[in-house]
Amino acid sequence: MTRHPRRLTPAETARVFARLARNNPEPRTELRYRTPFELLVAVVLSAQSTDRMVNRVTEELFARAPDPEALAALPLDELEAILSRLGLYRSKARHLQATARLLLERHHGRVPREREALEALPGVGRKTANVLLNTLWGEPVVAVDTHVARVARRLGLARGRTAEAVERELTARIPRRYLGHAHHWLILHGRYVCRALHPLCGTCPLAPLCPSASRPPPRRRRTPSAHSR
Ligand code: SF4
Repeated sequence: MTRHPRRLTPAETARVFARLARNNPEPRTELRYRTPFELLVAVVLSAQSTDRMVNRVTEELFARAPDPEALAALPLDELEAILSRLGLYRSKARHLQATARLLLERHHGRVPREREALEALPGVGRKTANVLLNTLWGEPVVAVDTHVARVARRLGLARGRTAEAVERELTARIPRRYLGHAHHWLILHGRYVCRALHPLCGTCPLAPLCPSASRPPPRRRRTPSAHSR
């Protein structure tokens, strides 16, 4: 049976987010974009790829196709060639072209603000929709990816096995005033501090509150040996 870290109390949870807020008052996505459409494209491309690699690819992509019209008109083999450094690039290329066409047909070429309309776009699931709703329009929703889920579990904020379950727990437990930035705080913390294999508990600002913090073993007191007497 999996042992879960103990749950933080509401007061401890508030202190965790107060520390994250103090360290980074205005957290931002590391994806580069200039318009809602470019962020939509970048987030779709970020599945199973690092933000750094996505930024390299989108530099070329956005120069060729900065809007839905240009993306829909780009020949598929050219789009695949631009995306070829990313995982799942063939399906991402197909999804992006279908999304560009749907944006033109149904939304006058704009990214919709409604969850239902976002999730109807090819390649856009709940997590991507949450990133867009949160980053573009400041909605208090938490997009749960692998970093967010790991940090939430280690901090005793969530125990759910699915992204939806973790999202529900986080939404219920994080004080409302912190929900707007919670996604970016947790993702950046997971990327740079609470890393999957080697979490930096020794320098983590959350360590005094964290039920999973690895602490240095207590120093063993030397017992006097026969020779030291
Ligand atoms: S103390 Fe360690 S396990 Fe806890 S949040 Fe910080 S890095 Fe992660």
